[in-house]
Amino acid sequence: MSPPAQSPKANQSPKAKTLQSWLTGPRVGALPSLTAMPAPLLSFEFFPPRTEALEAQLWSCVKRLEPLRPRFVSVTYGAGGTTQARTHATVTRILRETSLTPAAHLTCVGATRDEVDEVARGYWEAGVRHIVALRGDPPAGQAGYEPHPGGYAYAADLVAGLKRIGDFEISVAAYPEVHPTATSPDDDLDNLKRKIDAGATRAITQYFFDAPTFLRFIDRAHAAGITVPIVPGILPVTNFGQVAKFSAMCGAKVPDWMARLFDGLEEDAETRRMVAAVVAAEQVRLLQANGVDEFHFYTLNRPDLTYAIAHILGARPQG
Ligand SMILES: Cc1cc2nc3c(=O)[nH]c(=O)nc-3n(C[C@H](O)[C@H](O)[C@H](O)COP(=O)(O)OP(=O)(O)OC[C@H]3O[C@@H](n4cnc5c(N)ncnc54)[C@H](O)[C@@H]3O)c2cc1C
Repeated sequence: MSPPAQSPKANQSPKAKTLQSWLTGPRVGALPSLTAMPAPLLSFEFFPPRTEALEAQLWSCVKRLEPLRPRFVSVTYGAGGTTQARTHATVTRILRETSLTPAAHLTCVGATRDEVDEVARGYWEAGVRHIVALRGDPPAGQAGYEPHPGGYAYAADLVAGLKRIGDFEISVAAYPEVHPTATSPDDDLDNLKRKIDAGATRAITQYFFDAPTFLRFIDRAHAAGITVPIVPGILPVTNFGQVAKFSAMCGAKVPDWMARLFDGLEEDAETRRMVAAVVAAEQVRLLQANGVDEFHFYTLNRPDLTYAIAHILGARPQG
């Protein structure tokens, strides 16, 4: 019996197929050599620890990243102002015990203007000169955001209030994929512009995973007349399941290719970390190749991935 007839394609060896795809597929230019790129400016975000064990983890993270000489490091403020004292303690300890420049996150939620102003004055008196000014999210259990009666309603109001207290350097949030409650992408950009007009000099973005989404956002922001630096927020992902859940709430898209990359690694933390490093490294290199020279890392108080990715970008410890 003769063998069934095969199509010419099925006859090809895998090698020939690869060659054919290469010859006929789209060409992608190589990423520029790292030696041609200056090391980028960096900033790192931490959260204030809740327990002694987490406190130790935070400080070992701070110490590990300190030699990379970031432009600043920022400390988050819990939903509803729940970490006010811990944020303050962490920021002032960074100021006292390290060579780093801290930035304190501050939100409008659950406090009057006077109360927020008092926190800001406390920072100014302690020598803290950089605030990341945010509206904040409602505390757990509360459905939507309601401005506090007598409080700053939105981040733009907070920025203006801070500028009345001291000449703080102020960073604000930006959303390449649009804030979930914004009525339209243009309204969201108008809001960003209001925050800058009120005195902010830098925007830090919500994390995102698709580099072109960020690059398109930068184009739109420039077209809208925004000229302050817009720094991409980079989240190295180790716990994919958790990030997928959180992303659904904050409006960051998780691309299908990413779900596929982490598929089957739920019980394999080591491989997940290696995959996470590759995903984040690809993302930042692509941004760097497109002229992005400043990066903000959401460290989640874990230094290793951030350190490795910063290294790939050309950052080296300095004495
Ligand atoms: C870099 C970064 C750091 C963050 N750190 C923290 C943190 O430490 N603690 C924390 O709780 N959260 C933090 N967040 C989350 C942030 O608080 C939420 O995303 C929040 O929902 C919006 O904050 P915002 O400052 O962007 O708000 P805003 O800029 O005030 O805008 C939020 C929404 O309100 C709408 N809006 C603005 N002004 C008006 C107006 N006058 N009338 C009606 N609608 C209006 C806007 O269109 C927008 O959709 C951070 C986010 C980022 C990107």
